[in-house]
Amino acid sequence: MPSRFDQSDVDRVRDATDLVALIAEHVSLHPKGREHVGLCPFHDDHTPSLTVVTHKDNAFYKCHSCGAAGNAFNFVMDYHKMSFPEALRHLAERAGVQLSARFDRTRDDSGTSAAALRKANAIAASFFCKMLQDREHGAATRSMICDRRIDDTMVDAFGLGAAPAEWDGLVRHARASGVGIESLVAAGLLKPRPTADGHYDAFRNRLIFPICDELGRPIAFGGRQLDPADEPKYLNSAESSIFHKSRTLYGLHLAKRAIIASKQAIVAEGYTDVIACHQAGLDNVVGTLGTALTREHVRLLKRLCDVVVLLFDGDAAGQRAADRAVELFFAESVDIKICILPDGSDPDDVLRQDAGVDRLRNDITAAEDALPYMTNQFRRELRRTDGAAAKYRCLERFMTKLVDLGWHHMPGVRKRQTSADLSHWLGVSIDDIESALPRQRRSFSTAVATGPSTDEPSVPQELAPAVSPARGRAERDLLALLIHSPGLRAQTVTAMDGGLVTVTKRFNAAAFHDPGVQRVAEAVFGRLETDSDFTVQDLMGELQSPDDRRLVSDLYEQAQVHADHTAAPSAAERLQAACAALSKVQGDESYREDLAAYRRDLRHTADADALREQINKRRKQGDLPAAMPLRVRS
Ligand SMILES: [Zn+2]
Repeated sequence: MPSRFDQSDVDRVRDATDLVALIAEHVSLHPKGREHVGLCPFHDDHTPSLTVVTHKDNAFYKCHSCGAAGNAFNFVMDYHKMSFPEALRHLAERAGVQLSARFDRTRDDSGTSAAALRKANAIAASFFCKMLQDREHGAATRSMICDRRIDDTMVDAFGLGAAPAEWDGLVRHARASGVGIESLVAAGLLKPRPTADGHYDAFRNRLIFPICDELGRPIAFGGRQLDPADEPKYLNSAESSIFHKSRTLYGLHLAKRAIIASKQAIVAEGYTDVIACHQAGLDNVVGTLGTALTREHVRLLKRLCDVVVLLFDGDAAGQRAADRAVELFFAESVDIKICILPDGSDPDDVLRQDAGVDRLRNDITAAEDALPYMTNQFRRELRRTDGAAAKYRCLERFMTKLVDLGWHHMPGVRKRQTSADLSHWLGVSIDDIESALPRQRRSFSTAVATGPSTDEPSVPQELAPAVSPARGRAERDLLALLIHSPGLRAQTVTAMDGGLVTVTKRFNAAAFHDPGVQRVAEAVFGRLETDSDFTVQDLMGELQSPDDRRLVSDLYEQAQVHADHTAAPSAAERLQAACAALSKVQGDESYREDLAAYRRDLRHTADADALREQINKRRKQGDLPAAMPLRVRS
């Protein structure tokens, strides 16, 4: 934990934060035994790998697949790409905790480029909102909003704004607010004049749709033309370190709760479609930003819900987009439904008709599952094909496509249903269908071409054992017990001289030689020395390295598994055994070191008699075993 923060601020915020509730805002969590599980947001998860542990006052999360682990601060920092001060401020605000004045003085020192970009976008958003209310500059935009029948509630909720029809409105606003021009340029909101000094506004004479992150902070803007002469029709902010089109869904910050609650997300294609749906009471609707759906969008949505309905305009482009989207979602652990609106209309059109909401709801309910959608398309192709050989080739092509899309990852029940349908249509046995499946399966990543995923967490390499396996085991066993049950610190164990001492007197952090566990051991013994109980989340707050946090959660889990074992000895007995094991390793190692030292001495001394005498003396004292070789060079 960075030391310049008031520890009481950190503690108060952590105590006030319910980790399960926090993570459930981003991942659909299900109770499982004493824990909660869900899809991990830090890797491309297909089975629920994320566990949130909250027993015994602990609160931490852990991914069994990629190893992500941590407390509430780590989660927010990694999920929202925040610095520690940003995470603290965010969680404090969320929990209604007032931070101390000392923290408030550090408000503006997080001069990261991401923070500067966010600030630039926030300033622009407030400028566009102000312009929308401006009698002169907002008039044309207000009349477009009125034409589109977007009501005031939606204007506020989505933060709609107006970019005035002038070259330097935002430039002047920024100067008046004392904001650096550079960050607005970096955010793509201002551009340098090509022929003269100074800058001009990137968005002019447009209806502005702020694009927000999951916390509702503006990270980019979409601008729609007011005058048909101003090409293009829609203009988006350029991508930046905080804005990636392929990972952003329009309106997600407003739709997220409804998506989690209804276990269903509806994906539309445009800003106004999303707003029209929300206005009609369909709160679980989000939109893509003028791009096709990507795997990142899929990853985002499948964490929140079980069913994704893709709304497409009923035209040829919509049909193509639907085909592509089906393939994208195919192997994911989420059900996809395709809803192609009739008569070439878009959701906004449908909603403007009489009883439009009911019609749209009906269309959504009647949406077809992705797999039948695909197999029905295959069926149509089959009908157009003549001859048994040609039909079989058609089947082979289709099966190859299915395998490329992730057939082997699909739940068995879906596979059986598909095989049965195909068998029925072709009039052949299910075995024949399955024999058409290509044996060699290609990896999913090569089958679907999407942008590179840059935020994939790297799986930490196992450290080469720098200590003996016996020592490594003994160190981990002892550390695991102390992390799981810090109360054991007062427990007495056998000392070197056979007496009884507390475990913290018997061992300290220096007893841990495994480089992988050293830092964790230091943190654990540091906490034990202060003689107060600590939780896993306290410990994780201290550990900067994800590998260290992962080790803490692994060790906690190891001790929990042992404790859960019905025939398990008591914690005190296990502590005694772990201490004895580590003592034995230490004893064995120091004996071997002594032995090696004596051998070195014997080889390098000229006074053989003196040494022999010394060795015999030490043997009598019991320091050296009788079997020690006594070859002295003379
Ligand atoms: Zn993971």
